[in-house]
Amino acid sequence: MEDLKNEMKMEFLAASSNEGFARVAVGAFVAGLNPTVDELADIKTAVSEAVTNCIIHGYEQKGGHIWIQCSIEGNLVEISVMDTGMGISDIAQARAPMFTTKPELERSGMGFAFMEAFMDTVEVVSEPRKGTCVTMRKAIGEG
Ligand code: ATP
Ligand code: MG
Repeated sequence: MEDLKNEMKMEFLAASSNEGFARVAVGAFVAGLNPTVDELADIKTAVSEAVTNCIIHGYEQKGGHIWIQCSIEGNLVEISVMDTGMGISDIAQARAPMFTTKPELERSGMGFAFMEAFMDTVEVVSEPRKGTCVTMRKAIGEG
């Protein structure tokens, strides 16, 4: 039983009040792996950045739904954060540190850079007017 791949899925309104909920929910799911305080903080921060992006960019703060899918297999955590919002036309540009399309909201364009720094891999699949899916992976307990 313990060797099975563990999975969870959640769906919630794209409201900033749900940002904390999302990071705590993923944190609680991942806690079973006995991550260090730092590893847990890294995962929660990465989830926050991805969820904030769905709310602010994907849906431009007009609502919509966000889906999170999370799995644990061995010591490997995989988290996907998805919206069906406006999507990204140039993914490479969007991922570049300090690139933002919302300087007027005082965004610093560091969200993807943080996700990349805190997780082992970050994959972005996106299509304009269809939505965005960010999949992040991290191995726990490998220092
Ligand atoms: P910060 O995260 O520092 O507040 P930011 O959100 O602009 O600023 P990133 O998180 O790195 O910076 O995202 C870079 C850009 O990628 C955004 O400005 C936006 O144009 C685009 N983007 C990111 N996530 C999404 C998304 N879910 N839907 C549509 N566009 C997105
Ligand atoms: Mg961001």
